[in-house]
Amino acid sequence: MTSSDVAATLPQACDFTVFGGTGDLAMRKILPALYHRDLEGHLPPDTRIIGVSRSEIDDDGYRAEVRAGLETYLAPEHLDPAAVERLLERCHHLCLDAGSSEGWHLLHDLLKDREHADETVRVFYLAVAPRLFGPTCERLAEIDVVDERARVVMEKPIGHDLASAREVNDAVGRVFEERQIFRIDHYLGKESVQNLLVTRFANTFLEPLWSSRWVDHVQITVAETVGVGGRGGYYDHAGALRDMVQNHLLQLLCLVAMEPPTYVGRENVRDEKLKVLQALKPMAPEDVDRDTVRGQYAAGLTAEGPVPSYADDLAGPDPQDAPDSWTETFVALKAEVRNWRWAGVPFYLRTGKRMDRRVSEIVVVFKEPPHAMFPGSEGATTPNRLHICVQPDEGMRLHLTAKEPGPGGIRLRPVSLDLSYADAFDQRSPEAYERLLMDVIRGNPTLFMRRDEVEAAWSWVEPVLARWADSSERPRRYPAGTPGPYAAAALLERDGRAWQETDQ
Ligand code: NAP
Repeated sequence: MTSSDVAATLPQACDFTVFGGTGDLAMRKILPALYHRDLEGHLPPDTRIIGVSRSEIDDDGYRAEVRAGLETYLAPEHLDPAAVERLLERCHHLCLDAGSSEGWHLLHDLLKDREHADETVRVFYLAVAPRLFGPTCERLAEIDVVDERARVVMEKPIGHDLASAREVNDAVGRVFEERQIFRIDHYLGKESVQNLLVTRFANTFLEPLWSSRWVDHVQITVAETVGVGGRGGYYDHAGALRDMVQNHLLQLLCLVAMEPPTYVGRENVRDEKLKVLQALKPMAPEDVDRDTVRGQYAAGLTAEGPVPSYADDLAGPDPQDAPDSWTETFVALKAEVRNWRWAGVPFYLRTGKRMDRRVSEIVVVFKEPPHAMFPGSEGATTPNRLHICVQPDEGMRLHLTAKEPGPGGIRLRPVSLDLSYADAFDQRSPEAYERLLMDVIRGNPTLFMRRDEVEAAWSWVEPVLARWADSSERPRRYPAGTPGPYAAAALLERDGRAWQETDQ
């Protein structure tokens, strides 16, 4: 640990301002996460939560909304009446249009007219549309509330291509230094994802195997069963590559592929992740044609019953309005990390909406034994696989080949060693946001994306977007409730491999 890490300790006072404090993200994720940390006694004692929106509600009106949000999004067994009241007392609301220059003095007065104002850590969480990121930061600078302890938190999407990501980063960077900017990728706050680092670097047994010498390939899947729902307006301009691959899937890839940092600290992990992004083999147009598959869900049957197509989801109640959208709701692709450790090892990435299961998983598939030692045996050896399940059931599973008990000849059978977080640790696994928000308050940026990482990820993704934009081939249709288009299976079959599904 360096002295700067030690300094990342809990302040006594914090003003946690959420722009978009009445929105879905605030109600579903941010406020429940703050509640849980408060319940555990982890919030700075003198913490205020200031929701900002254009809604004309006072503190009491906001507290009523927050109470309803907590009751909706927290499990009943986690609702502690005293803790709910304590959190509500911390809540305030300011009616302010972040896109206008009016009314900002109210925020100035609220933040400055308080005890310990000079020692208070100010967090500004931008849970609003990205077009408001720059103007909001400018206004914060104008009202003189950005001091060296201030932090700003940004949610995805950070731009829709490299140029627009740079614009957002420039605008925010004119007011906040990079060390004060926290770009959230909530996947990095998940216990199982952090445990991937611990499993790799706090143990010795995996490290000698963790390279092209013993790893055949890696699969990363983030599959959702939901459709675009009410987010169609945003999603149709984004698509799965921008919405999921550019951030979440590439971040997971980085954690699998990165070299051991000298220690897990503020910049070291991010330095190593950046090196992975920079080592990704650039996608030439012919690579895009050969190594990527894009799909769009059609109507189909899911566990919740028949569901409409993506176009009908966009159209809403009037199917006549169904647009002819070419936006992809599914992506599968093959990437390669061109460095000493990983040269020649394919990383297969896939993500989609309306798939047959909800799962986020990393599978490291090891090579076959070099020599068949059990020629007369029944059953076959199957390659060892390490499944790291990010959601829904966080844990790890190592697949081995074992001898089936019994006399006579040797019968081989696949078995698995399971580590389920829920079973192994008799405690609630905190939500990713809980960990990440506390890191913001403490000023620890290790699990947040640095500007150069975001821009390197965009640089890699852009040629794919460009090729698709030029293509006359529309995304392949796949029925909702299925594993995606057949071409995604063919992407691996061509290489003599197959997607590893969770229950295999
Ligand atoms: P939302 O439900 O539409 O909420 C937007 C919030 O921003 C509301 O509180 C809204 O309140 C406020 N707002 C809008 N315009 C404003 C303005 N000019 N000045 C001040 N407040 C304003 O959206 P959301 O789902 O919470 O998402 C917010 C942002 O986070 C989006 O950029 C989204 O892409 C991103 N995000 C969301 C999620 C999620 O799970 N929801 C996940 C990742 C990223 P008023 O209308 O009353 O002003």
